[in-house]
Amino acid sequence: MALYADLHRHLGGSVVPRVLWRYLQRNDSQLVDQFPGYAEFEDFYTRPRNTLDEYLELHTLVEGVQTVEALPYFIYRLMRGAYIFENLAYLELRYTPYLRTPAHLSQSERIDLMTEIVQVVGQASQLNEYPIVTSQILCMHVRLPYEVNRAIVDLAAHNRDYVCGIDIAGGDNHYGERMEEFVRLYAYARSLGLNTTGHLYETRDGCHAELLPYLMRIGHGIQIPLQQPQLLKQIAEQKQCLEICPTTYLKTGTLDDISQLKHVFDRCFEAGVDMAICTDNAGLHNVRLPFEYENLLTHDVIGFEQLQACQDAAFKHAFAWPYGQRPASLLNGLLHPEISKSVFEKHPASAK
Ligand SMILES: [Zn+2]
Repeated sequence: MALYADLHRHLGGSVVPRVLWRYLQRNDSQLVDQFPGYAEFEDFYTRPRNTLDEYLELHTLVEGVQTVEALPYFIYRLMRGAYIFENLAYLELRYTPYLRTPAHLSQSERIDLMTEIVQVVGQASQLNEYPIVTSQILCMHVRLPYEVNRAIVDLAAHNRDYVCGIDIAGGDNHYGERMEEFVRLYAYARSLGLNTTGHLYETRDGCHAELLPYLMRIGHGIQIPLQQPQLLKQIAEQKQCLEICPTTYLKTGTLDDISQLKHVFDRCFEAGVDMAICTDNAGLHNVRLPFEYENLLTHDVIGFEQLQACQDAAFKHAFAWPYGQRPASLLNGLLHPEISKSVFEKHPASAK
């Protein structure tokens, strides 16, 4: 049995269309009336968009539904699906807590409510029947003012039981004139000892090298091997891992064809840059992690050996995986104790 880790998944985009549709029906949402039936809704929800901005509009739809009361409903179904259908042993779930608070409240009231959101998400994602090691990444957002983003960093620092790192989201094509501010926020997060990742080098307009020194992992980063391969050596030396989300680039119009990812993987492997394969928005795409793997294999983007290297990298760069080894090593010890013992006796170093 292979168990996987997903390092890049948005809480908003992780709701599969069927679960969202049922929720809307059960709650008599007016949204249901806009579609003749489920098939039309699924088509609307999962079809490719022309740009990253259009694609991110869909997050706004789900954010509005994921209130503090509704979050346990969605998270229970998310964890159940991840365990049953995706064989996940580890999941980092990311979102912007401020955008889950009621929009009619004042900024300071909304900031105060963020702690409750983090706790509700944390408690709802720990389920005995679906045991997955899970933690949260809190996303700062390009649409939010500095004070709110700084409060999100502080929130991460004060809730380390539930939160393993911070991110910046909302479209890397919009950082532009506020780059200095985001650099300051990341420097602040690192000074608090927080783990960092950030949506960067996803689109051609998202190549901001000034943010790179502050990131332990890079959300996407595909434009580095595609546009600025001279940076790869430094990325490898800094041991930064790219979070590659193959289906996203086709849904956002960033790439035309999955075969273009072959350059990304080839150049990164050649330069010794680690990559984790992730889903980003498994629900919105209706593509679960094992199918991301399979798609890359069937389109000859990578081979099995490279896939395993990426699966290893996911556990190696996970912010909150508590074990030194991948689950395969742990399971071998459990399922084949004699083999592990004989391997250990022959090669004591391999047991470390
Ligand atoms: Zn993302």
